[in-house]
Amino acid sequence: MNPILPGATLGVMGGGQLGRMFAHAAQQMGYFTAVLDPDPGSPAGRVSHDHILAGYEDVAGLDRLARLSAAITTEFENVPAQALRTLAAARPVAPAGDAVAIAQDRALEKTHFMRCGVACAPWAAIETAAQLAAVGDDLLPGILKTARLGYDGKGQVRVATREALAAAWQQLGQVPCVLEKMLPLAAEISVIVARGHDGQMVHLPPQLNLHRDGILAVTEVHDANMPVARMERAVSATESIANGLAYVGVLCVEFFVLADGSLVVNEMAPRPHNSGHYSMDACDLSQFELQVRAMTGLPLVQPRQHSPAVMLNLLGDLWFPAGAQEPVTPPWARVLALPGTHLHLYGKTEARRGRKMGHLNVTGPDAAAVRAVALQAAALLGIEAF
Ligand code: ATP
Ligand code: MG
Repeated sequence: MNPILPGATLGVMGGGQLGRMFAHAAQQMGYFTAVLDPDPGSPAGRVSHDHILAGYEDVAGLDRLARLSAAITTEFENVPAQALRTLAAARPVAPAGDAVAIAQDRALEKTHFMRCGVACAPWAAIETAAQLAAVGDDLLPGILKTARLGYDGKGQVRVATREALAAAWQQLGQVPCVLEKMLPLAAEISVIVARGHDGQMVHLPPQLNLHRDGILAVTEVHDANMPVARMERAVSATESIANGLAYVGVLCVEFFVLADGSLVVNEMAPRPHNSGHYSMDACDLSQFELQVRAMTGLPLVQPRQHSPAVMLNLLGDLWFPAGAQEPVTPPWARVLALPGTHLHLYGKTEARRGRKMGHLNVTGPDAAAVRAVALQAAALLGIEAF
């Protein structure tokens, strides 16, 4: 593929914060951007040269996006795979609809992981009452997850008994689900790779992630965050998963670390990932620039992390300090007085609890210094210490 060079327009399906940061990276390199998203106030739509206000399956909207764009990507995991296949008839689309379709369905995703020889938590597909009845006791206690459309811990119920399992499936509307055995987690990590049209692959240094209430809260990336051997195993497993999909674009794979140090794959995201935001300030290539390079056929160069980093997610909860009924702007000036703090806000006008409003990257000379500043920032913002 001849590279699509700056000056061209790059299209993105979805107008959320990931699309916004993609647009910023593309624009920095001299591309124009077009966003398709039905929300007139979408974070990416507000910063893009073109904003097509249409649903993801709107034929005229897709046609307009294809006409405007030299290449197209997605920032929204649940974009209809068929829409990507339709666009692919007209323009290069990365990642492909077929890869996205697998990432959208937990049963297909786990089947793919196993095919690539990467261990996942013991699980069973539950689509029928007979499958529910046939579940082995070894999967309990477990987590029942809807096969599709879950995010930030939504569409999940923890179940300890068969009765609770049956009730949970009822509660989830008896849609296709997977039951996963509940594993004792020592830690959670993730790996981001970028794979080109020619199969060449680069990766970001692996992330150590802390989740709270099913939502990513803190990511740390520095030498002290995990043993080198674990890092190498996680990168190699992620590469197998990407190769197995003949993937083109940025892919994030999340892993559980068990008490004995072994790795179990959790899930993948066919796009840049919240845990990769540290790369914007701590690496010489961000995950969004990698997305631009992969989709346009530009060279993928191994990114170099130049600073240890901690990322704090800024959820809407921070706008509601104890007792506040109306949103209160967090103390940004005090946070930005701390050395090495980089504020990223997504331009969402309304703060709501659990809503991802932005993130704060902290960089510094060494892991101890970065952690110390990140803890100070967390205290100012009302984020629990980590
Ligand atoms: P997102 O897409 O935002 O990453 P999600 O809604 O897809 O989240 P999962 O990644 O499946 O949800 O699960 C959310 C969190 O719940 C995990 O990061 C982990 O902390 C916990 N969790 C999920 N599955 C298991 C499991 N089998 N055993 C133990 N903990 C689990
Ligand atoms: Mg997850």
